[in-house]
Amino acid sequence: MNKQSKYNYFVPYKYKVIYYNGMTRNSILLSQQEHTKIQEQFADPISFELGFPTVFEQFKDWGFFVDEAIDELDMFRYRENLNKWQNRNFHLVVVTNFDTNLGFPYYIEPLNRNRMPDFLTVLKKHIQQMINCEKISSICIEWTGGESLLNFDDFIEPVVKYTRKSCLKAGVPFHCQIETNGTLLNNHIIEKCKALDIACFKIKLIGNEAKHDKVLHEKGLPTFRLICNNIKQLCLQIPTCFVFLTFESSINKYDSELKQLASFFPLKIRNQIRINLQISTIDTLENAIQKTINFKYKLIEKALGFNQNMVDNEQNWKELIYHRDFQHTLIFNGEVHSGTTTITSSKDSIGTMLSEKGEIKWDIQKRSKLLGSRWYENEWCLNCNYLPLLSEICHRRSLPFGGTKHSIERTCILKTKQFSVDSIVVADYQAKELKVL
Ligand code: SF4
Repeated sequence: MNKQSKYNYFVPYKYKVIYYNGMTRNSILLSQQEHTKIQEQFADPISFELGFPTVFEQFKDWGFFVDEAIDELDMFRYRENLNKWQNRNFHLVVVTNFDTNLGFPYYIEPLNRNRMPDFLTVLKKHIQQMINCEKISSICIEWTGGESLLNFDDFIEPVVKYTRKSCLKAGVPFHCQIETNGTLLNNHIIEKCKALDIACFKIKLIGNEAKHDKVLHEKGLPTFRLICNNIKQLCLQIPTCFVFLTFESSINKYDSELKQLASFFPLKIRNQIRINLQISTIDTLENAIQKTINFKYKLIEKALGFNQNMVDNEQNWKELIYHRDFQHTLIFNGEVHSGTTTITSSKDSIGTMLSEKGEIKWDIQKRSKLLGSRWYENEWCLNCNYLPLLSEICHRRSLPFGGTKHSIERTCILKTKQFSVDSIVVADYQAKELKVL
């Protein structure tokens, strides 16, 4: 006896439908007509197998059907164990400072604000050590901070130059992202980013113009238009760049506010901007409402001409998959943390940078608590229909010291809408299609 896999996805693509299985990652493209017929068979696996045994066996081989007795979660756990040993993509987050040029403190909790005297040298050594000794297969450096661009000339520029050179020599792909409030993206910085081939930026607008300017102002001056204009200049001057723009709105206004936001960007650059819509935390959303918003929002986003891909133009999405052993955050004070969202106190640090070889002295007890637990072993992830599809990307949102329902909801990709699930299926299908060609 066979049953349909719990992880089958049917995604519309160019007037056809991609059939994709999240466990095996197999995919095929069917016409709408074929899709309608096959769906009738999928609804009744027994009749399907009896009526069309060869076709059924093929779908079973691809993973769309499994034996009744098989627990797909066991298969998933096994796959995760194998991945752990094969994945050597390195994701390094660097916090350059806790300062900001705007009147809004990002880090207000007790944190050690003293700069490690030789942090720049240690950082370079750490990158070299990861390339030489840990044999990483790709590296993505994400710059963040109170305002990371305050340290562009003294940190970002020299480290990016150094890493690019080292990676070129070692044949390791290198990607770089900058998280910034967007106000300091002036011509000087844009030209340097262009020269350094930095093409991915994460920027946040905390609401429409009035709301944003009330909170984020520079010495009393509004910043919303300044940021939008900087994004425009950035996209015009670096046509290959990609801006991941988080935009907060409310359940009643997101439609009109998105249209208003679009008016700040000429149509020709909107394809370089991916909007990450965040519905205000004041609105507590039922799942059904969230789904309707997601659906409607995608249509609006598409109509306005914004980008709907999950990664920037240059980066292969597979390189976004990190194992937690190869993902950490270095702070300018020498502390090592497990993720930016959790940097609230120096007490949470899981290691310390050592000056000599750029190695990390791990706090073994905290690290084993973090890495020893399986991040997905909670009732929400185990019941998630997207677990095998998103699992590797969910890794990067790893929750240290176990996760509560609240912390999982706060970081869950389905809730944050950082990526659209359909776009992952499409990206993977397209990658395979290219390989065949
Ligand atoms: S974090 Fe969210 S998307 Fe990821 S597996 Fe858990 S429930 Fe699913």
